[in-house]
Amino acid sequence: MDDCIFCKISKGDIPAEKIYEDKDILAFLDISPINKGHVVVIPKEHFSDIFETPDEVSSKLISATKTIGKALKKAMEVNRVILTIWGEDVPHTHMHAIPKKKDDDMYFWKQGKYDEGEIKKIGEKIRSAF
Ligand SMILES: [Zn+2]
Repeated sequence: MDDCIFCKISKGDIPAEKIYEDKDILAFLDISPINKGHVVVIPKEHFSDIFETPDEVSSKLISATKTIGKALKKAMEVNRVILTIWGEDVPHTHMHAIPKKKDDDMYFWKQGKYDEGEIKKIGEKIRSAF
């Protein structure tokens, strides 16, 4: 993809603070971190999102992210690394690995609640879609 920022980073056309690279996977520091040491892990090949990514590639993505997470724990001196596949921002499959100390004030999402009976209806709707 010519206009994909992660493809450009993957090809080296845009500089990034790379922290891990192998044949298929690249990881670099997010320039707008949720917390210091926030890493983005991508397959080098372009796929629009995790649903379009072959299992073989997504397995490599998860495997590399686990390796990176262990290094993050050690380097950033945290006992948790939060992993997300958010999928809303850049349309190139990626995972976020975000180091977190117990008292770090990190904001991810606003949590809502279901109305009376709504959770059952939504559960049925999703189950019937398989
Ligand atoms: Zn891309």
